[in-house]
Amino acid sequence: MRILILSDLHANWPALEAVLADAEGKYDRIVCCGDLVGYNPDPAPVVEWVRANCAVVIRGNHDKVVAGIDSLEWFNEVAQAAARWTTANLSQDELEYLRQLPPGPVKFHEFQMWHGSPRDEDEYITTARDAGPCFEWFELPVAFFGHTHLQGGFLSKYRRVGPIPTVEKKQRELVFQLEPDTLYLVNPGSVGQPRDGDPRAAYAVYEPEQKIIRLRRTKYPIEKTMNAIRKAGLPEILGQRLFAGI
Ligand code: ZN
Repeated sequence: MRILILSDLHANWPALEAVLADAEGKYDRIVCCGDLVGYNPDPAPVVEWVRANCAVVIRGNHDKVVAGIDSLEWFNEVAQAAARWTTANLSQDELEYLRQLPPGPVKFHEFQMWHGSPRDEDEYITTARDAGPCFEWFELPVAFFGHTHLQGGFLSKYRRVGPIPTVEKKQRELVFQLEPDTLYLVNPGSVGQPRDGDPRAAYAVYEPEQKIIRLRRTKYPIEKTMNAIRKAGLPEILGQRLFAGI
């Protein structure tokens, strides 16, 4: 079994297409850790694709706001503008799909998944100190999360928490073997808006029988997304940040 792990797609269709091409169909199931929409200009194709192809999908904070479950007030101005535009550019049916997505944690096969943290989908897990309490929620050795748009994550061995290495800019992939007595809290990175200084789309592949996780990066035509952002009248900064990966 090989499971394609996607998170934070954020309505970036060229990035999603590039990820699927890069993964070359070498997976049996696809799961999504939330934030299908927000920021970028292709919400409808991304929502339709996720609905048709993902075995498990949990909601992210942007999905909640766009679907009207949560208020806009916590978003900055640019995110608010994009969320309003997104709500106006999805069908009632697509909005209803977002509305019914479950919050994490959700268990699937050999792992758990959530968007931010297990207790709050809006919480950012960016440091080992943030990650510590998450390990108390582990029912299995592996959990995937998103929200920070930072590929990598944390591992805990005998209650010592440390970072998982990340893919270097010259590399396309980092493969790590899961070790016994170790818990892994893994962020596949963001497909549609990476923020770790590497503009390439990010994703992961989990092979539970082999006990292997692959963190992967792939280039995509950012200018396509940029052009669509301009055409949609979305804030220009949303395209500029994609080129910088921030
Ligand atoms: Zn996000």
